[in-house]
Amino acid sequence: MAVVTTYNQTVQALMGKKQSIDSQSVTVAASNINDKVMGYKPLVEQYASEYGIEDYVTYILAIMMVESGGNGNDVMQSSESLGKPPNSLTAEESIKQGCYYFSQAVKRAEENECDIWAAVQSYNFGLSYVYYVATNGKVHNIDLSEYFSRYRLAPMLGNASGTTYPYVNEYSQALGKTYLYSNGGNFLYAMIVKQYITTSPSNGVVSENEFMWPVPANYNYISSPFGNRLHPISHTYKMHSGIDIPVNYGADIYASKSGTVTGASYHSSMGNYVIIDHGGGVSTVYMHNSELLVSLGTVVTQGQVIAKGGSTGASTGNHCHFSVKVNGEYVDPMNYVKVP
Ligand SMILES: [Zn+2]
Repeated sequence: MAVVTTYNQTVQALMGKKQSIDSQSVTVAASNINDKVMGYKPLVEQYASEYGIEDYVTYILAIMMVESGGNGNDVMQSSESLGKPPNSLTAEESIKQGCYYFSQAVKRAEENECDIWAAVQSYNFGLSYVYYVATNGKVHNIDLSEYFSRYRLAPMLGNASGTTYPYVNEYSQALGKTYLYSNGGNFLYAMIVKQYITTSPSNGVVSENEFMWPVPANYNYISSPFGNRLHPISHTYKMHSGIDIPVNYGADIYASKSGTVTGASYHSSMGNYVIIDHGGGVSTVYMHNSELLVSLGTVVTQGQVIAKGGSTGASTGNHCHFSVKVNGEYVDPMNYVKVP
């Protein structure tokens, strides 16, 4: 049932070009995609390839699941983006237009160094959302999409007063946001699409139950992986010493494993950071926090809240930069933690 494609998707989305980073392959797999949608996979592959987004077939299938579940003819619900009446396309025309539209979103996200989820959300909001994300931290998150929905999209379509209607499902309930704005699209769209996609390191080396994900499980996007990347501020290629996980301001940052705090201070690039020594030459680092809740010498237990998320230091948006060091060398954190 699962289709698997392996490539440097996150890296590509960030760098705007195909960049091979040997150690940093990410596996993106479609999950729970139904047979109807899978039946359209050859057409999706054909048109994704035609429009230069062959690496994003998994995302397009996930979008189709949300748009139609493979039912009806306009399976990508793309007739309106062609200026045609709803449901007026054949399945192939719908897929062709859907792939074209998504390719435009991906291209804009790449050009502006935004994450792939900005492109996914713009399938619902329109392409201007990518530019909005580009000027607001370059990483899609629910705060940004809700603001865009409430103050940009809805007013443009006649709802300037923030009128909402109920929208209740497990995702909206988990966020405590069981509403959408009238004429404001679906600000949870990218999150809904993500349920059909799983990402994991392709090397498969994850030590179970040893280290835990350093932030609450609803923050499960990696906006920048470990390895060489184009730095968003200096625009030079730099070694990225950890993974970046976008979080809301003030989100809980957890000790990934029990240990002793050996660093809790401010640094111009790391911002407010915490270092925890776990023994055996292994330590973890948590950067860009708004607030620190531990100090030098604090003994912490796994899962203890050690800091609150933020964007201090060299940072373009609220996120947790998480590093793992072994005998003084930064190593790939994805060999230690799993995306929830
Ligand atoms: Zn980082």
